[in-house]
Amino acid sequence: MTALEHWLSQKLEERKEQQRYRQRWQHQPGVVDFAGNDYLGFSQHPAVIKAATQAAEQFGSSAAASPLVGGYCAIHQRLEERLAACLGRERALLFPSGFQANLAVLDALSGRGDYCLHDRLNHASLLDGTRLSGARLERYAHLDSSDLEHRLTRLEGKQGQRFIVSDGIFSMEGDIAPLNALGTLAARHDATLIIDDAHGVGVMGSSGAGVCEGSHPQQVAVVIGTFSKALGSQGAFVAGSQQLIEGLIQLARPYIYSTGLAPMSAAAADQAVQLAMEAPEHRDRLHHHIALFQQLARAAGLEPLPSVTPIQSLVVGDETLTMALAQRLLDDGLRVGAIRPPTVPNGSSRLRITLSARQRPDDIRRLVERLACHYNVFSSDNLTTS
Ligand SMILES: *Cc1c(COP(=O)(O)O)cnc(C)c1O
Repeated sequence: MTALEHWLSQKLEERKEQQRYRQRWQHQPGVVDFAGNDYLGFSQHPAVIKAATQAAEQFGSSAAASPLVGGYCAIHQRLEERLAACLGRERALLFPSGFQANLAVLDALSGRGDYCLHDRLNHASLLDGTRLSGARLERYAHLDSSDLEHRLTRLEGKQGQRFIVSDGIFSMEGDIAPLNALGTLAARHDATLIIDDAHGVGVMGSSGAGVCEGSHPQQVAVVIGTFSKALGSQGAFVAGSQQLIEGLIQLARPYIYSTGLAPMSAAAADQAVQLAMEAPEHRDRLHHHIALFQQLARAAGLEPLPSVTPIQSLVVGDETLTMALAQRLLDDGLRVGAIRPPTVPNGSSRLRITLSARQRPDDIRRLVERLACHYNVFSSDNLTTS
């Protein structure tokens, strides 16, 4: 065994002992998916698939170069303009993934001597972006604008830029950032507010522009979204002022030194954005499913975290029990996420259920019924053994 393999085998053993070994999962026919992100069902929409196919025929299967070296075509420009208009921002810029967009934004805009204040439950890519930048990272209590305010007040008089960074919808909780409070604090403390609305774009707001719909650019300076959640494609965007976008094009290394978004992904996303705006029935159906799940789950004695978004979490606590519940559901042909530390804090392992316009109300009824049944069996087992 090489030294590296030795090191890796120790790491892997550790993971197994902690019950945290992760496995990839391939879709199986007949299993209803409550773990994916295809919130509006657009990954299967004929118009979206057709747009991707036509773009591949017209522009080829790859952008074939970084955007500054030729990997930028008409379809990219069209999508950027559509997104900027949708969000009421001057410009938008495309990236091959949301993870990359977050690294790019935080690394390009902040650096040593600056302060980045993150919600404690922000997505890993936002935290990694700040680590990459070398800025000072602080984490405020989840959704807690008074904790954030204390921290901003402590920074008064210090040199350096301040950034407030938050998910729009939190990916493991399904709750929503207090945008107005964050915007007010940003203005009061001369800080830049960055919102990663990966889960809100397409889903929230009356036109589907996300949680930042109707927000003022002076309040939320930087809006980030991905095409991989509600829009059924791949890639991401950053929207903001002319200066912001030009700054990213000049400074953001993950943008400059990486191949542009594949034209077919851009075309699929462009079609999906149009559908999200012009065909609200997909979003209506999704929100109907969300309300149905909350209502049925509560009636069945389950206690999902309060959430008006496609992300519905049932905190179980124990890791082994969480895994066992997810396995029972899979045996029933229902796939849900089983989320463990370090993705969520210790002791808060959970079932993460994502809702989509693709599901049928009957699928949701069956999910709640099976869930309640397994839950009851497990909790009575626990009572008798403890
Ligand atoms: C999924 C997600 C990302 C990453 O987006 P990809 O396009 O999948 O790389 C970033 N931020 C949040 C909050 C996410 O949920």
